[in-house]
Amino acid sequence: MMFCWNCRCGANILVRTIHTALCVGVPVTLLVKDTILSRAVIQTQDLLYGIAYLLLMTLSIVFYYLACFIDPGYLPLKKKKASVNNNSEDEGSDEDSSMLKNGDKDVKYRMCDYCEIQQPMRAKHCEDCKRCVRKYDHHCPWLEACVGERNHKFFLLFLLATAMLVLWTFYIAWNAIVFRLDWSDWFKANFLFFIDIIILIFGGFVVVGLLCFHSYLMVKGMTTWEAASRERITYLKYLDDDYNPFDEGVCKNMYYFLCVCKVRKWESVYSKKADVNGNGGIV
Ligand SMILES: [Zn+2]
Ligand SMILES: [Zn+2]
Repeated sequence: MMFCWNCRCGANILVRTIHTALCVGVPVTLLVKDTILSRAVIQTQDLLYGIAYLLLMTLSIVFYYLACFIDPGYLPLKKKKASVNNNSEDEGSDEDSSMLKNGDKDVKYRMCDYCEIQQPMRAKHCEDCKRCVRKYDHHCPWLEACVGERNHKFFLLFLLATAMLVLWTFYIAWNAIVFRLDWSDWFKANFLFFIDIIILIFGGFVVVGLLCFHSYLMVKGMTTWEAASRERITYLKYLDDDYNPFDEGVCKNMYYFLCVCKVRKWESVYSKKADVNGNGGIV
């Protein structure tokens, strides 16, 4: 398993410490006060409930760090042009491209000036990581890491575990609120739960929203970058708006997304779909 180490150490440590503190801190406040969770764990009234909750919390943190540290699919630096193309005029901006023979098909490849490599299809240079990433999705500021072909599944699993954890924690905190006639008494009694609920509502909207969006991308065989910048992407901009050449059907899309660790040769998928659909395909 490869790990990504870049030079943004300060930001990495800060954001990951904040995330871990929130993931552990909120449940701890529910353990020290009188809640369903503290009765289950501390008073051992329902150990199974407590173990299930703590297991979900651990899974959420583990998936977060797997998404942070697993190589998203960085391409090696300066494997310059090799025998691929001798035309120096094709080097340049992101939109520049050169033609490669892929079987009996011509497929467009892009150059990355920074890495000085020819990018495979669906790869993109990340300004934050300063590397090209296979099947680039986005650079996540909450992970301080890129999400790409190799770690996208862990990012989705992190979102799934965290969404479940947030909803469960919200239920525990909401049910722990005690009634007081006086406002200041109520605030004193419920201060920690009040703070927890504010964090959970804000975090819950973000996490559940991202979970829905990335589940949709998985099912449709798309990436955030392709969904957001289709009209600027060389291999997509000439195709019909509703046509995705990487969509191989829900089951196959999910299988390759969740179960396959090896990187894929997307040029082959692209060519195959163009053959089947006759949709302009390769230009
Ligand atoms: Zn690059
Ligand atoms: Zn990045």
